[in-house]
Amino acid sequence: EAEESVFLARTAESRRVRAASADVLPGGVASNWQDAPPGAVWISHGAGSRVVDVDGTSYVDLHGGFGVGLAGHAHPAIVAAVSDRVRKGTHFAQPTEDAVVVARELARRFGVPLWRFGNSGTESTMDAVHLMRAATGRMKIIKVEGTYHGHHDSVQVSVYPGPEERGPAGRPYSVPVGPAVPPALAQLTLVVPFGDLEPVERLLVENPGEIAGMIIEPIMMNIGLIAPPDGYLAGLKALLHRHGAYLAYDEVKTGLAVSQGGATQWSGVVPDLICLAKALAGGIPCGAIGGVPELMGIIADGTYEQVGTFNGNPLTMAAARAMLFDILDDAAYRHFERLRRVMSDGAEEILHRYGLPGHVRSYGAKGAVVFHDRPLRDYRDFVAYPDQWGNAHWLYQHNGGVFLPPWGKCEQWTVSVQHTEADVRRFVVNLERMAAHLR
Ligand code: PLP
Repeated sequence: EAEESVFLARTAESRRVRAASADVLPGGVASNWQDAPPGAVWISHGAGSRVVDVDGTSYVDLHGGFGVGLAGHAHPAIVAAVSDRVRKGTHFAQPTEDAVVVARELARRFGVPLWRFGNSGTESTMDAVHLMRAATGRMKIIKVEGTYHGHHDSVQVSVYPGPEERGPAGRPYSVPVGPAVPPALAQLTLVVPFGDLEPVERLLVENPGEIAGMIIEPIMMNIGLIAPPDGYLAGLKALLHRHGAYLAYDEVKTGLAVSQGGATQWSGVVPDLICLAKALAGGIPCGAIGGVPELMGIIADGTYEQVGTFNGNPLTMAAARAMLFDILDDAAYRHFERLRRVMSDGAEEILHRYGLPGHVRSYGAKGAVVFHDRPLRDYRDFVAYPDQWGNAHWLYQHNGGVFLPPWGKCEQWTVSVQHTEADVRRFVVNLERMAAHLR
């Protein structure tokens, strides 16, 4: 209680830094999505399961840096690996053996043999699109309406399209995210609703020999959390292959968080390409793309130049190695499961007891309270329900000392190996406080 009374009481430093940011950082932040309502939270440091803002207020961190935070903050294994590497030099533009070790472990976990590295999720999904195009000589791809795959042109299409531009539900239009995306390029990205095979089949039939492949989040995040219907992923893979096209999973959020081998292992359906980033290097920027020899083989022969100054950077690879071998072991996933149960069961019980509209969806280290009385199937379901409860929830969590990602309606919580049951019970307590006040 004593700790709670300080929440939002101290803001002087946050105000000072915010005021100093506006004339040098566009929008006052380093990335547009850091400026979500009610404004950026200026962080001083993180420790274990907590982040501390510049005013000294400490929060249980369930934001997890948009899903990066499976290790928590300043994990001793990451500190040790990174410190050791810093002393030995951090960049040579030549590979270190850690890259081999990390690639082999990803191959074991995800079931595809060949891996390359980059620096972000955007680069991973860009490589996936490029690889499918280069391997097939076909230029069109399919993506799901309402999915964010990063900020390269081919996937900056129908991410959050407005009502007047979306087109018919079964046949969504290809809507460029903004004026920076060339309309001619956007037309190469065909759009389908999540969870339905029929629109995919129709596109494949209507565009014979033109579709290189499909990129999809196997468990849809960024719009709450929507699991694929039974048989959907297996059906997609079979359908695409029948038409000479490939299947790429964007596991930037799900990979390593949902299970040891991500949504690939969780679903049992191994795609042709897998994109990773976020959690992989314990808070150091890293991306990875893995795949079958048919596709990844065209990297080695130069058909597709997968390149980057910082690819396989020694610091990144040392951190990723520590993450995979010292942090994300069997015990970590048992821990995620224990925390998941506390949050999911606790939140479901409160929603039920107070008669709030909503349900919980959670997998491994990630989950979301979806404040809607029906399960969501796709983007259009998601945008059709109001976001007041999600916004109120964010505020109640924040004022109760739990830092969640912004846009209560869209985002997911992320727990780390350093979170405790007491940490996540706080989430449940805050939800109950909201229910008791507002119901
Ligand atoms: N794919 C998904 C599913 C994501 O959620 C994100 C980022 O939020 C990306 C790709 C892009 O990753 P990055 O921000 O590292 O470029």
